[in-house]
Amino acid sequence: MHSDTPATSHPPTTAPTQILGACPHDCPDTCSMLVTVQDGIAIKVQGNPDHPATNGALCTKVSRYTERTYHPERLLHPLKRVGPKGSGQFERVGWDQALSDIANKLQTIAARDPQAIQPYSYAGTMGRVQGEGMAARFFNKLGAARLDRTICASAGAEALTFTLGNKVGTKVEFFAEAKLILIWGSNSIASNVHFWRHVQTAKRNGARIICIDPRRSETAEKCHQHIALLPGTDAALALGLMHELITHDWLDHDYIARHTLGWEGLRERALQWTPERTAEVCGITADEVRALAREYGEMARAGEPVAIRMNYGLQRVRGGGNAVRAIACLPALVGAWRHRAGGVLLSSSGYVPTQTMALERPELLAGRTPRTINMSTIGDDLLRPASAEFGPAIEALIVYNSNPVAVAPESAKVVQGFAREDLFTVVLEHFQTDTADYADYLLPATTQLEHWDVHSSYGHTDILLNRPSIAPLGEARTNTQFFRDLAQRMGYTEDVFSESDESLCRTAFGDKVDFGLLLSQGYAPLPVPDAPFADGGFPTPSGKCEFFSARLAARGDDGLPDHLPNYEPAGADPAYPLAMISPPARNFLNSTFVNVKSLRDIEGEPLVELHAADAIPRGIADGDEVTVFNARGSHRCKARVSARARPGVVNGLGIWWRKLGRDGTNVNELTSQRLTDMGRAPTFYDCAVEVKKS
Ligand code: SF4
Repeated sequence: MHSDTPATSHPPTTAPTQILGACPHDCPDTCSMLVTVQDGIAIKVQGNPDHPATNGALCTKVSRYTERTYHPERLLHPLKRVGPKGSGQFERVGWDQALSDIANKLQTIAARDPQAIQPYSYAGTMGRVQGEGMAARFFNKLGAARLDRTICASAGAEALTFTLGNKVGTKVEFFAEAKLILIWGSNSIASNVHFWRHVQTAKRNGARIICIDPRRSETAEKCHQHIALLPGTDAALALGLMHELITHDWLDHDYIARHTLGWEGLRERALQWTPERTAEVCGITADEVRALAREYGEMARAGEPVAIRMNYGLQRVRGGGNAVRAIACLPALVGAWRHRAGGVLLSSSGYVPTQTMALERPELLAGRTPRTINMSTIGDDLLRPASAEFGPAIEALIVYNSNPVAVAPESAKVVQGFAREDLFTVVLEHFQTDTADYADYLLPATTQLEHWDVHSSYGHTDILLNRPSIAPLGEARTNTQFFRDLAQRMGYTEDVFSESDESLCRTAFGDKVDFGLLLSQGYAPLPVPDAPFADGGFPTPSGKCEFFSARLAARGDDGLPDHLPNYEPAGADPAYPLAMISPPARNFLNSTFVNVKSLRDIEGEPLVELHAADAIPRGIADGDEVTVFNARGSHRCKARVSARARPGVVNGLGIWWRKLGRDGTNVNELTSQRLTDMGRAPTFYDCAVEVKKS
């Protein structure tokens, strides 16, 4: 038995059984889990050896899932606030009282304007059922405000769609056959470990692996080469590579002519990006630019597969969409798509045939079009008064699958907003997070071991089913049951509010996925071609890889990819000369797992990595307590003087719970609410700071 499962004084009375599940977390690997249960207790969670993408292994974080499920601080009963807002003081109440009070409150607000009620949710679970299925039905019927779910990936998603036509790319398993892999903006060992397995296979077969990342991550140090560019300069590097591909004629002219749009314009722009100019903007050497282009161009020219794995970090800057577009153009220039192991992968989620209408039932809106609030600017929006332009002030928040007080940018404003005494906040959670502290009602939600769900992936191309393996702990309820119960209290009588979770699992993909296969083996592969663009056929309006996007031009944007300097470039402001990025700590996943002691013990405490060249002039030694600050706020943490940071850039590893930090803050005290060029996404990695010894 795992040491953290509930102790029983009796010997087991039943034989262990294994239940097939799926990892619910926001990770491209979407693993198939095998949960071992004995006497109603989950005693072990392991990777399913029969699921090829999982290959029998879970990451360290989710291997501890029983520790998280049976955590002594797990919320097991509905709670009602008794202390001041944010104090985290609650008293236990029954579900009946909680649901009646919440329904009354929402009905009162809705009688004035239902748009004053704001759902707030993201990828605390990636499940289609415990995510937006029943919840969306409820909010559609209510006519509540909508949420623009932008906080992670929407700049890159929009950029890919403008370039390739959808969020599609190279199948992850074929990276094992590539001869050159560029890992661009990804600490794969920490956040995409099953992809790293394919990289290892390629490496054993002689592939060269190059990491492009401002931080010398665990992944970067294991690659053949690491190019540590400045944050927000990825588009410049891609354009510099194009310059060299063009001037050395490492191009696939046939592929360009037949399967791309906008070549002449892109050519003209790229020729402005000499290696010297590129090097100056990116903070690297011209030789690094030349050599990288040569490897990519010559390898492709020789007919070998060259592949790029992008990740979302690079699109968390002002020009993040343009950066993704510039990088996504590279494979078409060299004809890399001709190979199944060539091309680029940021996300595979565009292959997923989600039946969104059937799940979310937009007809319940009955012709209304409620306003939309961007989750990335929740700090500002919670503080906004009613106006003709904005509509009503936000009067109620229903938070599920998210921890905005810890993860949304510019914490000072987010906290100020959540602290409003006139805001009615309901939080569905497993633990008393930073956000939960601000709840009026804090309600216990089930974990992945306690409910049905169905999952797609943005890394591989399988659909996975998650069966419940244990009964809900305490009085925990599924998100779906909460919204069903609330719908009933509100007097909603439509049949869609009584659909069961198992039925919702079937509804999510309808007849596009073999549900029998999901039931029998836990996963079902989608019919995705091995080399999707070997003969063009991009799902863009032109059917081509769109270097030039008429859709972007039509909305007044540049139709060609370009380098857009950061809002807050490194070295631009003498008061805040350092650029800060905030990649995830290896043992956390966003703000999930921060309260799992065994994982938090590995991470130690919040820290900022800085290079000796930045530490020494500031009198900062390794282990010192420092204050990281800018005009938006300050955050005290420990300094780690380390070659993981490049000069001019500091790495504030996230995302710690604020209340577990030294001074009740985390790195989002420093980040801004400015948005990206595409996708209305946050610019977490576009953040100038200064650091001083505390
Ligand atoms: S977090 Fe990612 S790697 Fe870890 S178990 Fe879940 S899907 Fe797999």
